[in-house]
Amino acid sequence: MTTSRENLLHVALEAVSAACAVTRSAQQAREAFGSLTKDDRSPVTVADYAAQAIVAMTLKERLQDASECALVGEEDSGDLTTDEATMTREGVVRLVKTFRQGASEEDVLAAIDSGSDQGTGDAYWTLDPVDGTKGFLRGQQFAIALARIENGKVSLGVMGCPGLPVDQATPTDVPDPDGVIYAAIEGQGAWEYAGCDPNREPMRISCDHWSADRPLRYCGSVEKAHGSMSDAARLIESLGGGNRVAVDSQCKYAIVARGQADAYLRMPKNAEYVEKIWDHGAGSIIATESGAKVSDIHGKPLDFGHGRLLKANSGVIVAVPGLHEKLIDGIRDLDLGPAKTA
Ligand code: AMP
Ligand code: MG
Repeated sequence: MTTSRENLLHVALEAVSAACAVTRSAQQAREAFGSLTKDDRSPVTVADYAAQAIVAMTLKERLQDASECALVGEEDSGDLTTDEATMTREGVVRLVKTFRQGASEEDVLAAIDSGSDQGTGDAYWTLDPVDGTKGFLRGQQFAIALARIENGKVSLGVMGCPGLPVDQATPTDVPDPDGVIYAAIEGQGAWEYAGCDPNREPMRISCDHWSADRPLRYCGSVEKAHGSMSDAARLIESLGGGNRVAVDSQCKYAIVARGQADAYLRMPKNAEYVEKIWDHGAGSIIATESGAKVSDIHGKPLDFGHGRLLKANSGVIVAVPGLHEKLIDGIRDLDLGPAKTA
């Protein structure tokens, strides 16, 4: 028997809220834990590994049918099993034990590696256990992003933002101790759970209405290497200018979805970098279900049907209706984006 989308969402909420609690405490103690550097030179911490183990364990415990647990996760235990990584490995096991007392090192490594699905089946989960690891290490925003992909499309998503203030009057660079979780199911809307507590009554969220009469509010990455700030600035200037907010992680999708910004621009810096499905699955459905439009820089819908990468897309543009079309037109008219090779 297949589990209904509503029940899958409940399981995803349980998994993400547990991972929020564990990663939040790890962020507070991050000086003591340190980080490793992966082959692609990006950092990874005990929190990334522990969150992936916790989400994988929750899926396995709550979903009877193993085929419903297929998981495309960002992390694997490879870098954790070397002698140099002993302290990190022990730190990961200690953190997971705060969630499941009886878990052994073997259980934890197996749970992390259950995220090795390549995303070639009809349905699977995709997880970024700590999206925005650089923000996590700076004591700034990060997200736990879990989405379900069915036939190349996102069917539901849950995004935990353990440091995002639910109160929109509080600046996003002032991390909040309570945080917030966002969730969405295709065709059913998007919701906000204050305090990262899935047992609280959720609030339906919707994106703003765009008005040309006020300056645009748009978000982009904190990390300069993750997108072209100059292309984004040229595009916004062509529409009369606006104010940029820099936020780490997929929290940017939620900031548009809850009406706090008009757009999130991820203008590619080069043609080589291909976006990962776990960096956009949960965020994109939350934004879409809030009424916002999500596409790549050419206006093409994000295509989750190519395994671990968004191979058919270039960059990401999220914006409120009305503005989205103007941004895509502007990108074309200004010929923005990575230089085309002959
Ligand atoms: P953000 O905080 O929005 O910049 O998103 C963080 C994510 O950026 C990480 O999870 C990485 O997967 C991704 N990332 C790493 N390198 C690049 C790059 N060169 N261009 C775009 N995204 C990147
Ligand atoms: Mg990420």
